[in-house]
Amino acid sequence: MQKTEIQPNSLDTAIELAIKIRPQTLKGLHSLGLVSIGDALKHFPYRHEDFSDIKKISELKTGERSSVKAKIKQIKKINGFRGSYSRAEAVISDDTDSMKVVWFNQPYLADQFAKGDEIYLAGIVGDYHGPQFNNPIYEKVNISTEQVHTARMVPIYSLNSKIPARTFRALLFELLPYANQFTEVLPLEIVESAGLMPRAEAIKELHFPSSIEKLEQTKKRMAFEEIFFLQCAVEEHKYDLEKSKAFAIKFKQDLTAKFAASLPFELTAEQKKAAWEIFLDLEKTTPMNRLLEGDVGSGKTLVALITALGVLTQNYQTAFLCPTEILAEQHYNSALKYFADYPYFSIILLTSKKQFINGHLATKKNLLEEIAHGGPQLVIGTHATIQDKVKFDKLAYVIIDEQHRFGVDQRANLQKKQTGSTIPHLLSMTATPIPRTLQLSIYGDLQISRITKLPSGRKPVITAIIGPTERLKAYKSIAKQVQEGRQIFVVTPLITPKIQDEEEAPTGLVAGARIASKEAKSAEQEAEALKKVFPKFKIGLLHGKLSAPAKDSAMRDFLENKTQILVSTTVIEVGVDVPNASVMVIENADRFGLAQLHQLRGRVGRSADHQSFCLLFTENENPEALDRLQKVVSTNNGFELAEMDLQLRGSGNVYGLEQSGIPRFIFYNISDSTLTTSAKSFAHDLVYKEKGNLSKFPELKNKVEEYLIHLE
Ligand code: ADP
Ligand code: MG
Repeated sequence: MQKTEIQPNSLDTAIELAIKIRPQTLKGLHSLGLVSIGDALKHFPYRHEDFSDIKKISELKTGERSSVKAKIKQIKKINGFRGSYSRAEAVISDDTDSMKVVWFNQPYLADQFAKGDEIYLAGIVGDYHGPQFNNPIYEKVNISTEQVHTARMVPIYSLNSKIPARTFRALLFELLPYANQFTEVLPLEIVESAGLMPRAEAIKELHFPSSIEKLEQTKKRMAFEEIFFLQCAVEEHKYDLEKSKAFAIKFKQDLTAKFAASLPFELTAEQKKAAWEIFLDLEKTTPMNRLLEGDVGSGKTLVALITALGVLTQNYQTAFLCPTEILAEQHYNSALKYFADYPYFSIILLTSKKQFINGHLATKKNLLEEIAHGGPQLVIGTHATIQDKVKFDKLAYVIIDEQHRFGVDQRANLQKKQTGSTIPHLLSMTATPIPRTLQLSIYGDLQISRITKLPSGRKPVITAIIGPTERLKAYKSIAKQVQEGRQIFVVTPLITPKIQDEEEAPTGLVAGARIASKEAKSAEQEAEALKKVFPKFKIGLLHGKLSAPAKDSAMRDFLENKTQILVSTTVIEVGVDVPNASVMVIENADRFGLAQLHQLRGRVGRSADHQSFCLLFTENENPEALDRLQKVVSTNNGFELAEMDLQLRGSGNVYGLEQSGIPRFIFYNISDSTLTTSAKSFAHDLVYKEKGNLSKFPELKNKVEEYLIHLE
């Protein structure tokens, strides 16, 4: 068949149209998801091996990773027999000395090289009656082109077994000239004034760096890009908000004081401060965008309600969004209780299953009409229900509870769901502590209020590490708790045995697994096992693979004490209140991040009537792992634990970041505050100069939009 001439000149061209490639290799590339030239060039090495320092044979030291340039004096193929390996054996020499080289299982190399060939070898120098290379990386000395595998900074890629490292490296080297076609995504002015390497050059240098210094510059440029895109998204959102109008809500001192006085307790100083910050924001004609952070049980709900009160009495609507139906119901019931003396506004529960208004059953159709008609209404429901279908009349205030996804995208999206030309004030609440270093870099568009102390009178949860020998004793005390009428949470890292679930793997699985010695437990297995341990108790099971109704009923059964022990994955984190639960057992505790352990611990200790316990089960005897767990025992401060996580495990594992909707950073290190500040200021200047619209820079605009992907 006559092939038409194809000019492979674009990054979108399929790899096999641009270069000669074996079908096997192509399959390997496809298995990595690499189809076009651009795909391959964007498959960056995760590190480099520095083979640029070429030694003389006489300088080699046993155990060191080194490179030499030498001539082959002799080379032969040896067929293995009686259990010995087939291999190629060579003697090489330079002007200082000679040495032996063995390539096990690669006898064919003896045919690839001939006596007199000049080669580079790189690897660890072994000792077998004198220095010897075993399975070194090899490459003939190229006269006309650069070396690819040796005598330079050599890229190391993350690959699978379907494609050999050497093949992939050679292929990328061949594709490298195409990298010139990567166009600059940053405005040229910024590339210049920030002293950044141009993009095409950076991509080439990233694969085959010409020096360590260049590699550093490359990484800096790529890191700048990553954080710059995010900052542009943040600044655009900020710009939009500043240009938007919101209903200004007057602070009503008397009303607020009267409500506070009606409570059975005194608000804590931090609750008052947070509420005050919100009141000031609500008075403005530009929309508030504030995050309220505070441990589970710190009293965030009340801060939200007290601030909503003024909004409601001034005839506006407030929406209170919850992640689950149960949580929405709980908040609805508290609102009815707290606002019993305020009959002049309506309290509405709107979930897919239940619809109520002021304690009376209603139809969904009715409620939607009511809400569209307007008036002072507090509408409580799930994200899904309220966000999608509901038309408000005068929505002045949106509260989002237990917002785990607090990415810019979702905030921006929510606030765009405006009614008329005004945008609602937004309060997001989370129990996930954000380390201070992250606030600057990622949450730059947010005002933050913090509650760091629990209301007084709470009994702190007693936390203990339980090793394998103490398990029996722990089970006995659990049985005693249940006999006294209490309930127990048991959390495991996995859903099903062994098969790791990406979505529900605890944040720290990767980091934790390094030091974890024993296999991870699964909820399914553990539930079965506990049925045997506690045959008299009812045991429930809850995890992310269950259908929504199944999840709901597992949670309800526990809430109503139909089950005494609830075995679950980390899905139970989301703020449901089961005050009767007094023990939180965490299996394979060493596999979780500290902040996450703290979150889980917050599920108990929610009643003043009984003492609660958090039992960190671990079979890991590694002192480092135990030391880490000890931190959860010794402090009850979520912010401290989040900072420790950041220090111990790096920014890649910060709890909450994975769910934040922000793509994982490859080059940018969150703790690099110099880079953050610089990228932030460039982004700010650009966005404000362009009046919040980057369409002059289409490629940049695309990248920024990747951070603002619309939610389903
Ligand atoms: P969060 O939403 O922060 O997890 P909640 O708002 O659910 O916490 O509060 C937990 C419990 O503490 C609720 O029962 C609430 O009534 C109670 N509470 C809130 N503020 C105070 C306070 N200042 N003093 C005592 N109890 C409080
Ligand atoms: Mg809450």
